[in-house]
Amino acid sequence: MEKKRILIIEDENAIAEILEFNLRKNSYECVRVDSGEKALALLDNGESFDLILLDLMLAGMDGTDFCRIYRSSPRFKQVPIIMLTARSEEGDIVGGLEFGADDYMTKPFSPRVLLARIRAQLRAEGRSSVPERKIFLHGIELDSDFHEAKVFGKSIDLTANEFGVLEMFMRSPGKVFTRDAIIRNLHGDGYPVTDRAVDVTIVNLRKKLGTNSSLIETVRGVGYRFIRA
Ligand code: CA
Repeated sequence: MEKKRILIIEDENAIAEILEFNLRKNSYECVRVDSGEKALALLDNGESFDLILLDLMLAGMDGTDFCRIYRSSPRFKQVPIIMLTARSEEGDIVGGLEFGADDYMTKPFSPRVLLARIRAQLRAEGRSSVPERKIFLHGIELDSDFHEAKVFGKSIDLTANEFGVLEMFMRSPGKVFTRDAIIRNLHGDGYPVTDRAVDVTIVNLRKKLGTNSSLIETVRGVGYRFIRA
């Protein structure tokens, strides 16, 4: 099998070295740069990668800027981005997710957990772009054609919004969705829904999931996610 290529954008040499060491040990190919500008230059040169590890706090262009520019450039092959952040950068995590990062890890992180996250992102990327009609996870079954939801085989009655949120979560288990992302997914851009309305939808959804309510996790200061598969 061809080796997957990972682009590491990290300006702390010690961390970049640990990343590179662990990735190479696990048969990934990697390229290291210490700034967003250099990363964009590589991509502009036609280098292609399967995943990007992106430090959020960089001198010059920061990680959020990189995400915004990269995601809005159709000339780049779009691949998953995992952000690496310090715990104190909570607001920036939200910004990064808003601009199209797929996951994040706070420093210091365990290389094993990061490797698992990388594998999850690469797996998700390899999935067919035609979504399966039925999803089955942790005892919850969704049939998007028939708008039917069951918990342990028993039908539950969901509103269109609740169904939409649950389907979005279950199609990307473990992925954190900000409230804005949830609103955009349900209604498109510029729809006047408050964060509070999202929270109410989640509360109702959890109630209907009963003993399975803990499958929807609150990520403090960031948003919500369905438990990792
Ligand atoms: Ca940094």
